[in-house]
Amino acid sequence: MGLQGRKIVDFDFTKLITLLNKAYADEWLAYYQYWVGAQIIEGPMRGEAVKELLEHAQDELKHADMISNRIIQLGGKPLLSPQDWYKESTCGYKTPSDAFIKKVVEQNRDSEQCAIVVYNDMLKILRDTDTTTYFMIESILEDELGHEQDLENLLTDLVLIKKL
Ligand code: FE
Ligand code: FE
Ligand code: MG
Repeated sequence: MGLQGRKIVDFDFTKLITLLNKAYADEWLAYYQYWVGAQIIEGPMRGEAVKELLEHAQDELKHADMISNRIIQLGGKPLLSPQDWYKESTCGYKTPSDAFIKKVVEQNRDSEQCAIVVYNDMLKILRDTDTTTYFMIESILEDELGHEQDLENLLTDLVLIKKL
């Protein structure tokens, strides 16, 4: 990044890059959790759920891409190995060992809820220190709020289907 570009960031660069790399790790794990869940999921409304999970997977990959671009722009390096994703992740990885649709969707909903807290906390730090990263994280958070809502809707419909 250019000199002026670095100057306007009023925050410890090492800390900022660590924070972003933690989010980067979360995004890759979220991507895979959604993607592999979509492959194996079983139960009612499978088609609907697969479509939603694959859409969210693509969003998480897009988030990873946005975050890695910003890390590089700040002069850092995105985590280079999947082992590091596990080590650095805040929200972790929830193995979909039970393929029942309700279980898989609940796990992904839990991960979204974790991501929402992580990004909301980041915004509090970034608000006065790094406007560019602030607006990037703000737009990611908006996606995560939508993801949570979509999964909650799926879970509601799974309950209602019993009334048929
Ligand atoms: Fe995401
Ligand atoms: Fe998400
Ligand atoms: Mg959706």
